Amino acid sequence: MLNPSENRFSHLLATRPWLLADGATGSNLFDVGLVSGDAPELWNTEHPDRIAALHQSFVDAGADILLTNSFGGTVYRLKLHNAQARMAELNTLAAQIARRVADASGRTIAVAGSMGPTGEIMEPIGPLTFGEAKAAFAEQALALKAGGADVLWIETMSSREEVEAAVAGAAAADLPIVCTLSFDTNGRTMMGISPSDFSAIEQSLSPRLAACGTNCGVGASEVVACIHNLAEAMGPDVVLVAKGNCGIPQYVDGAICYNGTPEIMALYARMALDAGARIIGGCCGTSAKHLRAMREALESHTRSASPTLEDITSQLGEVSTGARAQWGGAHSRAAGAAAGANLSRGRGARTRRSTDSGTPDGA
Ligand SMILES: [Zn+2]
Repeated sequence: MLNPSENRFSHLLATRPWLLADGATGSNLFDVGLVSGDAPELWNTEHPDRIAALHQSFVDAGADILLTNSFGGTVYRLKLHNAQARMAELNTLAAQIARRVADASGRTIAVAGSMGPTGEIMEPIGPLTFGEAKAAFAEQALALKAGGADVLWIETMSSREEVEAAVAGAAAADLPIVCTLSFDTNGRTMMGISPSDFSAIEQSLSPRLAACGTNCGVGASEVVACIHNLAEAMGPDVVLVAKGNCGIPQYVDGAICYNGTPEIMALYARMALDAGARIIGGCCGTSAKHLRAMREALESHTRSASPTLEDITSQLGEVSTGARAQWGGAHSRAAGAAAGANLSRGRGARTRRSTDSGTPDGA
């Protein structure tokens, strides 16, 4: 039983072997009328019913964690839609909508305040200072907390500087913090961070993360390989999150669709658990139908040995040369660095972050 003063997310982690996070936000909103280029966050006031219906579909599919519709909710992203003055309102509403659905469910569901990248390049390469970024994440975190978020969920990150600023900012709200990176460029983030780099960064963060891992990225196979590499780098005490896309994005009749099936996502969920993830969900393209298959797969599965590279490639698909080179831990890190240096090779050339491909999601 949840003690009234206990944090729902912490309670769930302490009492359950694994947790199911939800599916996609952006790509599912496209299906109900969101147009490419629109800010999904504006739907928190324009179409709160559609946001609530999406959350409800994930609750009905078995989600333990709902991510709020606030991925692009920093002032920097909202500025692109001239909505920066509404930052607090839109984030608080996002959390309130999810909170209402979670509380009406009759079970303990954690509301995770989604916080995505600012879209700005940080110092020393770009103009955004650490202080400015930290302040933007802090005000978003406080607004999400005011709406009832249980945990702050920083996602689709790619740079060390922005991870550090986001975590430092989120700390203002005094809630558990989760951070996931998109390892979408040959086993590394777009800014070159590998799973073992992320392990070192995580250990230097203050406060430390309640959970960390990977979201979005390439396909299910790459996410499972990444979880294996993160588990190897971080050890068994770190709570790992896998929130992979529903297959690979493809253009069909001018629209982005994802080629993952419920069967593939069920397989992905079991393999992610075996590879070391304790929180498993779906990113772009993951609908309630996929999520239900993942829930059933996890319920009927006993965690077993971590999959081999061959298991992953034979059941889910290719793994990048970079992720392969990282496999096996310290002794192969030099090889991983060499592979990572050549980003045009392997899958790097055809990966793109959802935020850059017309999907205002990454979540
Ligand atoms: Zn995604």
